[in-house]
Amino acid sequence: MIASKLPLVGTTIFTRMSQLAAETGALNLSQGFPDFDGPQALRDAVSRHLQAGHNQYAPMTGLPALREQIAAKIARCYGRKVDLDHEITVTPGATQAIFCAIHALIRPGDEVIIFDPCYDSYAPAVALAGGHCVHLPLTQPDFAIDWQRLQDALSPRTRLIVLNSPHNPSGALLGVEQLDRLAESIRGRDLYLLSDEVYEHLVFDGARHASVLAHEELYRRAFVVSSFGKTYHVTGWKTGYVVAPPALTAELRKVHQYVSFCGVTPLQHGLADYMAAQPQHVDELPGFYQAKRDLFCELLAPSRFRFTPTAGTYFQLVDYSAIRPDLDDVAMAEWLTRQHGVASIPISVFYQQPPEGLRLVRLCFAKREDTLRQAAATLSAI
Ligand code: PMP
Ligand code: GLN
Repeated sequence: MIASKLPLVGTTIFTRMSQLAAETGALNLSQGFPDFDGPQALRDAVSRHLQAGHNQYAPMTGLPALREQIAAKIARCYGRKVDLDHEITVTPGATQAIFCAIHALIRPGDEVIIFDPCYDSYAPAVALAGGHCVHLPLTQPDFAIDWQRLQDALSPRTRLIVLNSPHNPSGALLGVEQLDRLAESIRGRDLYLLSDEVYEHLVFDGARHASVLAHEELYRRAFVVSSFGKTYHVTGWKTGYVVAPPALTAELRKVHQYVSFCGVTPLQHGLADYMAAQPQHVDELPGFYQAKRDLFCELLAPSRFRFTPTAGTYFQLVDYSAIRPDLDDVAMAEWLTRQHGVASIPISVFYQQPPEGLRLVRLCFAKREDTLRQAAATLSAI
């Protein structure tokens, strides 16, 4: 038997639940992806470039035209002027970007603070780099940072803190005040930030995303990661980017050039064209997803699930304790899929140590109206 480098890791919950949904014919509200396609003009642009022979390696750092568009968007949304040659790197997906940032920084024995529940790729990347994850639970029920716990957890070995706002799976947002507070907590310490902002354009009710890119003090020590998959409804394209100050970008690129070297060429061309032609796409996104959230929440209101409409992302957490308090969330997600034909994601799997009595599952509402209506009707009848 090979001695596993990741003995505690199995197949991810996203694969397991999507497979179970396919096997049972359930509506798949588990793994986060839209059941509708990305914009026609974007897909046309990619086809055009594919047919025009743009099929060889892209530059390691990303196509200049795409980095230009990313820089323009950052200037427009966050008021930061980034140097596209030294601060932006296009990657094959945000997951790869996260892996590279962690490997660029973490040495054996380093500590990385991550807030639970969190996206499942952080901890394995840290473990493979020889680092040690310090898991800090977010508060309940509002999934906020416990500042005292953070203060107590900081040590001379802390090398990196991983942030994720808008937050998967809870949808909670970090505001500017929290970023200020974080800056204060780590001032004078030799540590870095990895800010996972893949849902940056999915914030609702008039809120504005507080990006680390807009925070002068934090940005100086940060890798900020985003994903075109979320923003343009094309999760299968696995194309994202990292923005970081030049010294950090240089280290990130040393890893990125040997993990994948570059991202997929025709996708980068298509995205660059579409971003140039439709810069307002990102401004329309909050309204687009808020309408889906509102419809889904309205339809679920008569159900026995309890919830607060999510503040961001395309995920809605629902509390099922009035329905099956006897089931833990993994069993509940399986029961809902098999018995009622709606697949969800249990959230305990995103914790090192889930809170006692957690009775929450995550539902993805990046779905067509008919899917949302069908799912809500089923869930309301339970
Ligand atoms: N971070 C979070 C919080 C996510 O939910 C996802 C979704 N897959 C990613 C990173 C990865 O994005 P990508 O598909 O571009 O790798
Ligand atoms: N980020 C997606 C989610 O949270 C899943 C990504 C994946 O399957 N790895 O559902």
